[in-house]
Parts: sequence; structure tokens; C-alpha cells
Amino acid sequence: MSYIAKCSFNECSCELITINPDHLNSGKQKVIKLSKSFFNKYKLFQKNHSKHESDQNKLMNFLITESFWDFDNIGVSRSIETLKLDETDELAEDFYISYLEKEYKILTASKYLICSECDRGPVGLILSIKEKDSEDPVLSKEICILSLESVFTD
Ligand SMILES: [Zn+2]
Repeated sequence: MSYIAKCSFNECSCELITINPDHLNSGKQKVIKLSKSFFNKYKLFQKNHSKHESDQNKLMNFLITESFWDFDNIGVSRSIETLKLDETDELAEDFYISYLEKEYKILTASKYLICSECDRGPVGLILSIKEKDSEDPVLSKEICILSLESVFTD
């Protein structure tokens, strides 16, 4: 049974994407975990916000898709330069994801994903990623990640 991720803002409930177990099994869609510090770095919207949740090591679930065309309804922000992970910052943390049986390093987040109906969010990001052990700087690709802590799924 597939299920639908919906906008969690009041009186919206726009259907954002259909999460299909067949696609999860084939790797076309995948749920991954990234740390709360990644989530907070990009100030993603958290639907059940609790002041007591300050644990930066908590893992947050994200759905990866190859393209925003996989969404039923999604809005994309303009490119924002400040979303780049700052490589000169000594405190900068590297983030990795495994996808399609490879390990990727997140290079940059180029755009926010927002609800296409109510323009609220952000509920996800468009990321540029690169194979972890690849020396070739050109071999990067773009993916979308939808924060499952930002939307309703049922
Ligand atoms: Zn909405």
C-alpha cells in the first residue's frame, strides 16, 4: 500500500508526494536518517515542535527522490547562496548519505522545498551530492530530500 505525504500546515493538507513501497524496495525512493544538527542547520519546519528536544544527535527521517518531478505537488525556492555548507568553517560537520548502494557526501543544499499550495515550509531541500571516495569533483548529482518530520504521512 502506498501512502501520501501531506502538508502539515492548518487547513492546507496539500498532497506532496506518494510514497510507494515498490519504489522504496527498488531504491527509486529511500528513507534515510540525518542528524538533528543537519535539520536545524537548514531551519526545516518541524511539525511537532517540542522545546525539550534539544538532542542534536537525534536522527531525523528524510525521503530521498531523484527529482522534484517525483512529487505530486511541490514548490521550490530560489537558489540561496547561504545554504552552502561552509568548508572554511572549522566546526562544519560533514554529512553523508547512502543511496543506490553508494556512500555520498553532501556538498551543498541549493534550494528549499516548500508546499506548492500554501508556500510554507521549508519541508525539504535540493542537495548536490558526490560519491564519498571519488576524487573527481565533477561527479556530483542532484537529489531531493523531503523531511518526514515536516509533513503528515498517512
Ligand atoms: Zn501547504
